[in-house]
Amino acid sequence: MDDCLFCKIIAGEIPSQKVYEDERAFAFDDINPVSPTHVLVIPKKHIARTSDMTDGDEADIGHLFTVANKVAAERGLEHYRLCINNGEGVGQSVFHVHLHVMGGRVMTWPPG
Ligand code: 5GP
Ligand code: ZN
Repeated sequence: MDDCLFCKIIAGEIPSQKVYEDERAFAFDDINPVSPTHVLVIPKKHIARTSDMTDGDEADIGHLFTVANKVAAERGLEHYRLCINNGEGVGQSVFHVHLHVMGGRVMTWPPG
C-alpha cells in the first residue's frame, strides 16, 4: 500500500530498528517505547486492522504470535504483554495490523 507507514518500513523506505524478518513478518522497535522492550510485529501483507481480516489471513496473523515469542525469548522475557489495537477508539493510530510486544517492567490490568 503506497501511503502506509508500516508498508514503507517493510520496504526500507522509512528507517527502523529491525529486530526480526522472515517471508511473512517484520519486527522492529517502537519509536516511542512504553516499556524496556516494545517491539512491533507486523505482517508483510497489508491488512489495515484485525477486523479487516478475510479467509486465508489467519496464517499471517497467527504467525505474528510465533515471532513475538521469538523476540521475547531473545530479550530474555518470561512475562510480557501482547496487544493489538483495533480501531481509533481503543488507540490504533497506524492502520496496518501490528502486534505490540511489551515487557521488562511490571504492568497493571486493566489498561487505561
Ligand atoms: P497503535 O497506537 O496504532 O496501536 O500503535 C502504533 C505504534 O507505532 C505506536 O506505539 C507508535 O509509537 C509507533 N510508531 C508510529 N510511527 C512510527 C515510526 O515511524 N517508527 C516506529 N518504529 N514506530 C512508530
Ligand atoms: Zn501497510
